[in-house]
Amino acid sequence: MLKAFRNLIGGKETETLSGRTFENRNPAEWDEVVGIFPKSDARDVDAAVDAAKQAFREWSLYPAPRRGDIVKKAGDIMVARKDEIAREMTQEMGKVLLETRGDVQEGIDTAYYSASEGRRMFGVTAPSELKDKFTMSMKVPVGVAGVISPWNFPMAIPTWKIFPALVSGDTIVFKPASDTPGTAATLVEILVEAGVPDGVVNIVHGGGSEVGMAIVEHKDVELVSFTGSTEVGKKISGIASKSLKRVSLELGGKNAEIVMDDANLDLALDGILWGAFGTTGQRCTATSRLIVHEKIYEKFVDMLAERASRLKLGNGLDESVEVGPCVNEAQRAKVHSYVEIGKEEGAKLVIGGEAATGGDLKKGWFYKPTIFADVTPEMTIAREEIFGPVLSVMKAHSIDHAIELLNGTIYGLSSAVYTRDINDAFRAIRDIKAGITYINAPTIGAETHMPFGGVKQTGNGHREGGAGAFDFFTETKTVYVDYSDKLQRAQIDTYSAKPGNNRKKD
Ligand code: NAP
Ligand code: MG
Repeated sequence: MLKAFRNLIGGKETETLSGRTFENRNPAEWDEVVGIFPKSDARDVDAAVDAAKQAFREWSLYPAPRRGDIVKKAGDIMVARKDEIAREMTQEMGKVLLETRGDVQEGIDTAYYSASEGRRMFGVTAPSELKDKFTMSMKVPVGVAGVISPWNFPMAIPTWKIFPALVSGDTIVFKPASDTPGTAATLVEILVEAGVPDGVVNIVHGGGSEVGMAIVEHKDVELVSFTGSTEVGKKISGIASKSLKRVSLELGGKNAEIVMDDANLDLALDGILWGAFGTTGQRCTATSRLIVHEKIYEKFVDMLAERASRLKLGNGLDESVEVGPCVNEAQRAKVHSYVEIGKEEGAKLVIGGEAATGGDLKKGWFYKPTIFADVTPEMTIAREEIFGPVLSVMKAHSIDHAIELLNGTIYGLSSAVYTRDINDAFRAIRDIKAGITYINAPTIGAETHMPFGGVKQTGNGHREGGAGAFDFFTETKTVYVDYSDKLQRAQIDTYSAKPGNNRKKD
């Protein structure tokens, strides 16, 4: 049953020039190889960029609504194949089926939203300051877009990038994460079936430092849309700055949820369990810190420990399982090293703190849901992204103190506040430094038609989702049409040239 995959370059399934391959395994059953993939290098990237460059002109001349029709068709195919894609995704990267179905649905939502934007992509028309002159701006395609994606949302994140890029009229060279090449290959297969012409979407599998870097460095790649770690994002930004290449960076997070003493504690508890342990904590928007008002601190930590210790771990294909494995061995080892640091630095381990290896779990990269209490802001586990099922709990004495703790990291992606006090809620909305703030809902749950992204070292200011994504994938062209049949000079012919006289000329 073992499937061997190839790159898709210029509409053709292509072997790598080197002939090298890599295998991808199921993190819940490490004996199970889910696919063999090409391990490409810079030469394969060259071929893909050439193909994308050649396909660009024709694709850019296709009307945007028709480009949208193709993306909509891709969404329709995803609807028909939703369950099958979700199952493959669970086998590939371990998230439970409930969540992988959600991941595919996010791709579908993005398809339909992006397709509809093909009939908007609004520019601006405004009155000219001169007579008989017309002004407008419009969005125009850019060229070849490099897309580099992480493994935690193997369908949703590539679609956030590829669908708006396609509707914008760009062509694509796509390098998916090495842990989720199978879902990426399925997405490209769907786009081909939907009618994307040859060369418009190209996929090059392989490692970040070889394939990813080659895309970033390529002179004919006009823009790069990257989601991943802050460390790699900084490298990309450094390289791109030399050619002034446009890059969109969606990077790490250290998101916190605040629970005030007047909150509905049962609701906050549900939110925290979903936010911290959903996707095994491997979300950029995962709740990694919990900030609890001192009046309810002891009680709430007890409630949380009781519920979290009962979460069912296992293979995500089993519908009763709530928490899947870490994505790979290195990720589990990284999680455990943070747990060791937390203990050394004096945080109180409440539950978990070790790999889960019993029974059915022995051949997977499972880690027990872990809670540290009495965490203080200077501790490593309060500051660094762990990307695993580890929650650091801190105590606050007021809403302002809680917000100060929440803001005390280099990241600023998502945040959540549970309170029934409208004043505290609005103060939090104003003062929290994050791209996303939820009131009475967990830190996860973005909707695709709304802007998504973070402040500080979570990114470089761009937003995915919603119409803003189209600003990244297009250039803005401003057009002036003068139909006066004479030279008209803006600023000069508009107002009197006499010093001290700013009256309008006739
Ligand atoms: P990562 O190691 O930075 O990898 C992300 C992607 O970049 C992968 O495709 C990777 O390829 C590639 N890559 C690695 N090194 C590269 C290089 N030197 N040049 C170009 N590309 C390179 O991140 P990850 O471990 O996959 O994902 C987890 C991180 O992503 C977390 O920090 C998380 O917070 C962040 N994330 C952010 C968002 C957001 O929207 N803000 C969403 C999801 C995840 P390989 O797979 O081959 O290494
Ligand atoms: Mg895998």
